[in-house]
Amino acid sequence: MLETLFNKLEALLNEHASAAVLRDHLALLRERVALLERQNADLRFQADQAQAQAQESQSRLDRFANDNPGGLRCDACGSVDLARTGSRADPTFAALGIKQALMTCRPCGHVSVFTIDP
Ligand SMILES: [Zn+2]
Repeated sequence: MLETLFNKLEALLNEHASAAVLRDHLALLRERVALLERQNADLRFQADQAQAQAQESQSRLDRFANDNPGGLRCDACGSVDLARTGSRADPTFAALGIKQALMTCRPCGHVSVFTIDP
């Protein structure tokens, strides 16, 4: 875009070589460059925001995949943002070696209990 403007300016100068034409077209060129610089700054800001959001989303996905791969949900609020914070023998099937996982919900702090396969 900038190169096109310079080429047009050069063509105009070749056709109508005068100081007045040069001044007018340089002013136009400055306006266009200033507009492009503002648009570029806006787009860079948007790109930075999008990148930050993507990183946050990826870290949440990684956390869920590591901490709660089965997609278990909090008994209190339904969130899947759970971290395993312990385990205990299943009160009914302890003799069979079956355990329960204690999962603490990050958003609400509730501890949910899930029977897990041995
Ligand atoms: Zn919860």
